[in-house]
Amino acid sequence: MSAKKAKDDATMATATESAPDAHHTRHNLFDVVTQQLARGAAAINLDPDINTIVSQPKNELIIHFPVRLKSGEVRMFKGYRVQHNNILGPYKGGIRYHQDVYLDECKALASWMTWKCALAGLPYGGGKGGVKFNPKDYSHEDLERITRRFTHALGNNIGPEYDIPAPDMGTNSQTMDWMMDTYVNINAAVDRQAVKRVVTGKSIACGGSQGRDGATGQGVVYCIQEWAHSKRFTLDGSTLAVQGFGNVGSHTARILSRMGVTLTAVGDHTGYYYNAEGFNPHKLAEHNKKNHSLDGYPGGRRISREEFFALEVDILVPAALELQIGLDEAKEIRAKVVVEGANGPTDLDGDRVLAERGIDVIPDILANSGGVIVSYFEWLQNKRSESWDADEVQQRLERKMRRNYQSVMDKARDLKCDARTASYAIALERLREVYRARGIWP
Ligand code: GLU
Repeated sequence: MSAKKAKDDATMATATESAPDAHHTRHNLFDVVTQQLARGAAAINLDPDINTIVSQPKNELIIHFPVRLKSGEVRMFKGYRVQHNNILGPYKGGIRYHQDVYLDECKALASWMTWKCALAGLPYGGGKGGVKFNPKDYSHEDLERITRRFTHALGNNIGPEYDIPAPDMGTNSQTMDWMMDTYVNINAAVDRQAVKRVVTGKSIACGGSQGRDGATGQGVVYCIQEWAHSKRFTLDGSTLAVQGFGNVGSHTARILSRMGVTLTAVGDHTGYYYNAEGFNPHKLAEHNKKNHSLDGYPGGRRISREEFFALEVDILVPAALELQIGLDEAKEIRAKVVVEGANGPTDLDGDRVLAERGIDVIPDILANSGGVIVSYFEWLQNKRSESWDADEVQQRLERKMRRNYQSVMDKARDLKCDARTASYAIALERLREVYRARGIWP
């Protein structure tokens, strides 16, 4: 990418707050979550006052901060942190680095974190943030400068008992290590050990948890296993298509391959690829890590985006950006189940059409909750000065995911609704109980 393009991304900082054109939908992301919430609220007859409160985020922070890059040049960056709700505990959610980050996206993603954490039974609320730039255009040193300056600019808007960031698209354990180190260093020396848990998703050396890196993909797989069990569907010998091969998509495909599931199609921002014999997800992940995209991977042929969604596969995992399955895609999908590894991949038309066509959807706030569940384990280990081994983390995650999956399906049966509405119903009931008990003051 040219220096000129990279500069354009960063200086786009003050540009529009609406969705970029690249999204295949007519829906605004925040409208999608609002409509989903309305359905969940109606299903449990939620008190109107509580509904009013949870329909909007508590805080929306936009900060412009200067960074002196390694070259000596100073650029302005635009950062966000939206804090949606904290009735159940500190705000919790990822930090995204992407050139298309915008306010309504952060609002929607923060809101989804509230429902995700409540559904998972975690003592957390919801938050989300990001910086509007393309991390692929910047060197390791410059990413460190941007991350540290952003963390400094956030200041006391985050905190280990207040708002706890984590990785998301474009960020990873290295980003979290820098955030933690910066935050710790702007705090008093006596508090430094205690505040390390201000972020989760750190490297193991810096206090991260075993199993955090693969946790979201692992959680997706537990959901797929539960689904398969309930449908008497045999995973061994089945086929899979994955959109997005970052952390979530690649771990999901790798874990499923051990169960005999063949990855026949895969796609990312560079294109879509098909291989009837199946891709090797381990080699694909290596290629992706080295090249930052799937482009140029030997084996498999290129297909169009339309062909990808219309493929004859058993399981479809959207694990890329939001709003990918709209009306057109939903009409063509032939998978038996869509498992939302990404946040908000299905728009309102997509949801309706998939339901009409009898295609099961395991909703994002359930399917991809493994990441924040292990984030909670990390935070707890830090708080208690403990370090759990990989088996212990895995067992706890498994127990939680399977139990949560079953409670969503039970609720869907009780309320005669889809799994997404049932997930909201459970989350909203948990918030409602607290609001009713505490009251709204003054
Ligand atoms: N970014 C992840 C998500 O969307 C993880 C959030 C966290 O661990 O706090 O769920």
